[in-house]
Amino acid sequence: MKEFICIVCPRGCHLKVDDDGNVTGNSCIRGEKYGKQEAIDPRRTLTSTVKIKSELVRRLPVVSSEEIPKDKVKEVVRCLDSVEVSAPIKVKDVIVKNVMGLGVDIVATRTIEK
Ligand code: SF4
Repeated sequence: MKEFICIVCPRGCHLKVDDDGNVTGNSCIRGEKYGKQEAIDPRRTLTSTVKIKSELVRRLPVVSSEEIPKDKVKEVVRCLDSVEVSAPIKVKDVIVKNVMGLGVDIVATRTIEK
C-alpha cells in the first residue's frame, strides 16, 4: 500500500494505492488517475531557467513540453545549467530538443526580443 497527497487540485485528498493499483481516498477521477501514475511512474512538469545573452534579462524561463520522470528532474536541471541561448527567443521555441534522450523538449515560456 502506498500513500500520497493528491496534487492535482488544492483540495489535497489523501490517496491510498494498493498493490493492484486500486485507488481509494480520491474525490474525483483525476485523483484516481494521478494515484495510479504516482504509484507506477511518478512524473513532474519541469520549470526552470537557462542563461540568455540579451540586453534585457539574464535568465530565460523554460518548461518541459511534457512531464518527465520524477527521478530525472535533478539531472535535467543540472543539464540546463550548461545551456546558454541568445536573444531573440520566442515563446514556445525549443531550447533543448529531446533533453537527455527522454523524448521531451525544453521550451521557452517567454519572448525575449533583444
Ligand atoms: S482527488 Fe480530485 S478533488 Fe481530490 S485533490 Fe485530487 S483532483 Fe482534487
